[in-house]
Amino acid sequence: MSAPATPYYLIDEQKLVRNLERIRQVREQAGAKSLLALKCFSTWCVFDLMREYMDGTTSSSLYEAKLGKETFGKETHAYSVAYPPEEVEELKSFADKIIFNSVSQLKRYQKVVAGMNIGIRINPGVSYSHFDLADPARRFSRLGVSDKKALQEIAPLIRGAMFHFNCENDNFDQLSETLDLLGKRYRKLLQQLEWISLGGGIFFTKDGYPLDRFCDKLKSFSDTHGLQIYLEPGEAAITRSTELVTTVLDVVKNRRTIAIVDASIEPHMLDLLIYRLEAQIAHPGPGQHPVTIAGRSCLAGDVFCTTRLSRVPKAGDTIRIADAAGYTMVKKNWFNGLPMPAIAVRRLDNTIETIRTFSYDDYKKSLS
Ligand SMILES: *Cc1c(COP(=O)(O)O)cnc(C)c1O
Repeated sequence: MSAPATPYYLIDEQKLVRNLERIRQVREQAGAKSLLALKCFSTWCVFDLMREYMDGTTSSSLYEAKLGKETFGKETHAYSVAYPPEEVEELKSFADKIIFNSVSQLKRYQKVVAGMNIGIRINPGVSYSHFDLADPARRFSRLGVSDKKALQEIAPLIRGAMFHFNCENDNFDQLSETLDLLGKRYRKLLQQLEWISLGGGIFFTKDGYPLDRFCDKLKSFSDTHGLQIYLEPGEAAITRSTELVTTVLDVVKNRRTIAIVDASIEPHMLDLLIYRLEAQIAHPGPGQHPVTIAGRSCLAGDVFCTTRLSRVPKAGDTIRIADAAGYTMVKKNWFNGLPMPAIAVRRLDNTIETIRTFSYDDYKKSLS
């Protein structure tokens, strides 16, 4: 077994375990369960490993929920911003919990899902997102119920509530204050519930995060309100585990030195483009030589980053782009008809397994 031809995504299981161990610690110390948010990462070839550390999956759609049930197992939480009737019917047959986004959806399907473990998404009006695009508490947000009176009215119909108000938030004190605020503001409702989910975006697997304090806080919150807490880590579960491995095809000059690799930002790392973020380079290491790493699509702005590396890349060199797991593989597309990066895994025993390669046929079949 060996690595495929570039470009390919390389998931490193040892690096995954670093995050997963911290998730397990929170489970053991705080009693909080963690569900993998599939919208961030659904590359199921590593779910055998992740399953040992996490309690199940959460989803944003029927397909994600199905994938979670089939490939991860354990608990399957279903959420959707809006369900059509046939999806609720199908979810009913296998989801452990169904979470509605609005009071009107809950009421519409209340009879269909009678007897099930039902939750509602609450919009607490606070969030820690740096991007308006991803801010669930943005003005006129449609994500979750903000009307407290309406919530109290439907309380008898639900057993849980989901709050999702963080995005890569590594500030524990701020989170702690917000939990206090939620505890106060929704005290009466929380007393009537069995579980709450705090959503994703809490960066508790980051080096230096005060895990013990985090666990104490979660434990005291769940004890005070008599609730099972769920976390829904996406990025925190898989952060820094994966690289996009590419080969330099050409080096051109236009005032800057520009290395063109055999991948592209729009089809292969779209999230960076949407949020206007610079890619991080895992290899070669940092150094004195200024270089722009660019993609091979015809998009003028197909640029991964401008940085300084230990050497000037030349055609044939390998460039490894860091952090290519979260919101990356789930968003890959066939723009420009470029070859789709293969998917490979470095297993715990260090062998590299090529899981999937894509061909012209896959491209052709993705349209008709
Ligand atoms: C996106 C999302 C998550 C995962 O968020 P991360 O920032 O990747 O941890 C979890 N729960 C819900 C409801 C989400 O929308």
